[in-house]
Amino acid sequence: MPADAVLQALGTDGRGLSATEAAARLERHGPNRLPEPPRPSALARLARQFANLLIVVLILAAVITALLGHWVDTGVILAVVVLNGVIGFVQEGRAEQALEALRDMLAPRAAVLRDGARLSVDAVHLVPGDIVLIEAGDRVPADLRLIAVANLTAEEAMLTGESLPVRKGLARVAVGAPLGDRAAMAFSGTMIAQGTGAGVVVATGAATQIGQISHMMQSVTVLTTPLIAQMSRFARVLTGFVLVVAALVLAFTTLLRGTPFAEAFIVVVGLIVAAIPEGLPAVLTVTLAIGVQRMAGRHAIIRRLPSIETLGAVSVICSDKTGTLTRNEMVVTRIATARGDAEVAGDGYAPEGTVGGTDDPAWPALGRIAALCNTAQLRHDGSWRVEGDPMEGALLALAGKLGAPWQDRPAPRATIPFDARYRYMAVLDQEMILAKGAPEALLARCDRALGVDGPLDRPAWEGRAEAIARQGMRVLALAHKPHDAATLDHGDLDGGLVLVGLVGLIDPPRPEAIAAVADCRRAGIAVKMITGDHAGTAAAIGRQIGLARPDRVLTGADIDALDDDALIGAADRTDIFARTSPEHKLRLVMALQAPGAVVAMTGDGVNDAPALKRADAGIAMGRKGSQAAREASDLVLADDNFASIAEAVRQGRTVYDNLKKVIAFLLPVNGGESMSLIVAVLFGLILPITPLQILWVNMLSSVALAMALAFEPPERGVMARPPRPAHAPILSRFVLWRVMLVSVLFTLGIFGQFQAAMAWGADLDVARTMAVNTLVAMEVFYLFSVRYRHGASATLQGAQGTPAVLIALAVVVALQVLLTYAPPLRMLFGTAPLSLGQLAACVGAGVLLLAVLEIDKRAAALWRRNPTGESA
Ligand code: ATP
Repeated sequence: MPADAVLQALGTDGRGLSATEAAARLERHGPNRLPEPPRPSALARLARQFANLLIVVLILAAVITALLGHWVDTGVILAVVVLNGVIGFVQEGRAEQALEALRDMLAPRAAVLRDGARLSVDAVHLVPGDIVLIEAGDRVPADLRLIAVANLTAEEAMLTGESLPVRKGLARVAVGAPLGDRAAMAFSGTMIAQGTGAGVVVATGAATQIGQISHMMQSVTVLTTPLIAQMSRFARVLTGFVLVVAALVLAFTTLLRGTPFAEAFIVVVGLIVAAIPEGLPAVLTVTLAIGVQRMAGRHAIIRRLPSIETLGAVSVICSDKTGTLTRNEMVVTRIATARGDAEVAGDGYAPEGTVGGTDDPAWPALGRIAALCNTAQLRHDGSWRVEGDPMEGALLALAGKLGAPWQDRPAPRATIPFDARYRYMAVLDQEMILAKGAPEALLARCDRALGVDGPLDRPAWEGRAEAIARQGMRVLALAHKPHDAATLDHGDLDGGLVLVGLVGLIDPPRPEAIAAVADCRRAGIAVKMITGDHAGTAAAIGRQIGLARPDRVLTGADIDALDDDALIGAADRTDIFARTSPEHKLRLVMALQAPGAVVAMTGDGVNDAPALKRADAGIAMGRKGSQAAREASDLVLADDNFASIAEAVRQGRTVYDNLKKVIAFLLPVNGGESMSLIVAVLFGLILPITPLQILWVNMLSSVALAMALAFEPPERGVMARPPRPAHAPILSRFVLWRVMLVSVLFTLGIFGQFQAAMAWGADLDVARTMAVNTLVAMEVFYLFSVRYRHGASATLQGAQGTPAVLIALAVVVALQVLLTYAPPLRMLFGTAPLSLGQLAACVGAGVLLLAVLEIDKRAAALWRRNPTGESA
């Protein structure tokens, strides 16, 4: 149908629906949302918890103990299996909820006309009849019949399989034309590749073409990162190793020592249970989920989980200028015409204020270009606000101050939308082309200035633009030209333009960005600014926010002149890149990565996607960013603020630290337990701890304590150390050494306590109970040691602990009291009550452990200062 007929049929016009009508239609048509893909049932998710080698081994052990008639063991092992499954199930559910909440924070928005005014709404609130504005980088929010297009192309591969963007138009197409040929439609879910346009919504939600495709691609979120994958591989290898050792021990005891099989098997089960860190996967996942939530609380939304680790290793951050380092609250404060410069006064976006100096004949033309070559709108609700590009909002305010009609503006007859590649935009208004853009782009196309006879003095104007830019202002040139055709394209601007004037806009740096840049530099991270803006403006802003080398600027043209090898050195030495286009960003990322840097790169435009994908951490802007950039990124900044990047790096480092702490905590506990058993078997000694008691410790005390580590706040000085090398193994030499040392200390503690108790004539049950309590006491003290990987633990702050640590501590103490004194547990686990003196001996072993570890940590710190020492 022709566009007009569609508008009529949907009961709307070019001004859009009224708010009440839109609400009524929302009621009728429902939200503009695709039906959710079916989720795996709770049962399936629960079942998945048991599809795990560790658990299968435990289940086998339960079966064999049952066959041997050791019912208590069977019961406890099965209880552990079930408990493990339930914990995994609950934690996974919570982690998924956290991710879902993030998804909601990233919900797409759409620009609509309602009651004639431009408005940004949640895309789910769109209804048939709404007029939607679209531009390059948007995902089309609903099926639209286009009513205006300017150089509009859309990528429709997801619907039609056509990989090249298709050009859109307004003309009717034949009834029954295939989707790919319906050029007058923009389909929900497709991506706008170029240009701008407007369309009327004809279908929403499940009624859209994409909604009718039943087999939708579902994106599966997997809670894993390279580190966690590495750990689960490690756990598998460990399990295999443990099984082999267990088999050897079984053979050794039955064949060489002549122990009856049933008895030997129980020992072997104990060994398996002792060696496998059952709680590790669950605790790692929780640590990650907490990191994601903390980042979201600081406006940094993780789209791909592995990047949370990468962020901790970032060594270079490449940031946009406008809106990220600066506020993106623009005000025109200077205009320069042939007559001279004038200062503009006023407040924010208010379209009122004064322009200094005497009246200038160029002002009306300047105001008209500012108002009409403009897609933004100003709105007054308490204060003046912009819908659309803030720079254009500032130009509307200027138009108001110059007395030009900025409110009810006629729609242009044709438009060349702004495109970062050309750096200008132009419209056709009546018989005039009105253009605005970067001075370099427009001055070359102008051949005279308004009010001046003779050719344009280009060098003089370039000098004036330069002078404004050097003050940190963004400079735009405004020009016009008579034109009597009804169409407009780039060729029409080649020559013959009349320069009307320059405007200078200030966009002050964000104070928090200044602090964050300093933080990053202290953390050994290089901060670089990559901007489309003028070199002079970029250098001035770079100096204000504290970049390391603000005087050296590389422009896009300079980059073009360098080959890839030369760019590697130049990119490393430079902190400011100006007048760049998205292609330069991609080359810069690669040049920075070549010598091994881990690069975070921000972006907002549709053409930034390749650079964002290529960067180690691609960061998109939540507010001004296009959907295309967001989908290519790992991280979205809800507030577009550079400070949030620094915060994300801090959290990334913290998560990595905490994952390491969890690993460093759990491995030696298991190591100590299994070594105690192996020693006992090899030397034919009585087991100091029974398999059941080990299960108790592993499933309850260890998990409770390790969970507390997931909540550890950033260590002091987390942003005062250099980034970790990208490929540093998680089990560094220091951690491996630690795991071994602590395993041995745990073995000594368990064994020593047990043997001492026996030597003092204690009952076997009492001696074992002392061994278990010693093990747990040592765990608790070891927890305090592990909490500070980069500093001493035996400090006041260290002793106080976080709420999570204190809760875990209380839980563990309560559990041990129950195990030691509650009759039912005593029966089940073969424990016996201890005297105060005996308890003190257990705690004493823990204190001793902490002391030894503190000495080792100090020694390691000295070792680290030695240049041959490896960093922990
Ligand atoms: P940054 O990369 O720091 O965020 P930016 O995104 O603002 O900067 P671009 O959007 O690529 O950079 O703009 C580059 C230049 O194009 C600007 O300096 C300005 O001269 C010009 N320009 C930007 N927006 C418009 C517009 N809407 N109309 C005309 N010219 C524009």
